[in-house]
Amino acid sequence: MAINERYLTKRERDCMVSIREKGTEDFPLRLNELAGILKISSPTTLNILRRLEVKGMITSSRGMIKLTETGRESADRILKIHRVYESLFCQSGVSEKMACNEASLVDYLTEEQTAEMVLHRIGDPKICPHGKPIRDDS
Ligand SMILES: [Zn+2]
Repeated sequence: MAINERYLTKRERDCMVSIREKGTEDFPLRLNELAGILKISSPTTLNILRRLEVKGMITSSRGMIKLTETGRESADRILKIHRVYESLFCQSGVSEKMACNEASLVDYLTEEQTAEMVLHRIGDPKICPHGKPIRDDS
């Protein structure tokens, strides 16, 4: 686990992954959209964003929320580890939905090196059960 992810909470993790997956350079997410995706209130979302800003993971200006370079690297690492777990769980017979939910509970707490070992052991699949690339999703 890189030093950056070490101090994330689950909600901060969810927030960063959503920004990475749903926002784009041209169309950054706004607070209300993010709150909608996370299914939590805007004030709660704002609190999480403030903490992520302090941690150097995001910036927000004029209501638009973006990941910093560090934030993007972190989110990409979390997503990669997430997809490794999903693949492992699905190969083991767990449903896709359950695999996704449970992978989210551990992906941000796992060392990338550990995920690499798991990935190798399960046959180095190139895509996750949802069809997203496991490596280099940039
Ligand atoms: Zn998933």
